[in-house]
Amino acid sequence: MAGVDLNDQLRSYYPIGRKSHKWWRSCFWYLLEVAVLNAYIIYKTTARPPGSKVLSHFQFHLELARSLCKEGGRKKAAAEAGVAAAGLANQAPNAHRRVKLPGRKKQCYQCRAKDIRTASGRRPETAFGCASCNVHLCDELCLAQFHAHL
Ligand SMILES: [Zn+2]
Ligand SMILES: [Zn+2]
Repeated sequence: MAGVDLNDQLRSYYPIGRKSHKWWRSCFWYLLEVAVLNAYIIYKTTARPPGSKVLSHFQFHLELARSLCKEGGRKKAAAEAGVAAAGLANQAPNAHRRVKLPGRKKQCYQCRAKDIRTASGRRPETAFGCASCNVHLCDELCLAQFHAHL
């Protein structure tokens, strides 16, 4: 019982979310608050390196938010680095890459073969395509499908 009281008391200090009339929304915020609070309690009761200072409840909230943001940012950066690396690997001189072709937009070769039309009934036009084959291709899927036939 003491634990529950303490929980409610601590929870009231830094409420997350807003009072909502939608019960499921209140329920969500309640669960989130309890989760964050439990994390703080575990944090407080866990052994730390000697001399390190204990974060206050408020600092803990800030620190948690900060590291969650960082975590997301790092994943994004890693994904971007992966894409860039994949891009570099494909940069062989005669590689069949999708690049902007000189001249006017043309119908996508692959979409014409598949008889794909836009919502307005036209054929997709694109300025991009494979420079090695000199063929217009609207996206990576069409590029892959076109070269699958080679
Ligand atoms: Zn090609
Ligand atoms: Zn296409």
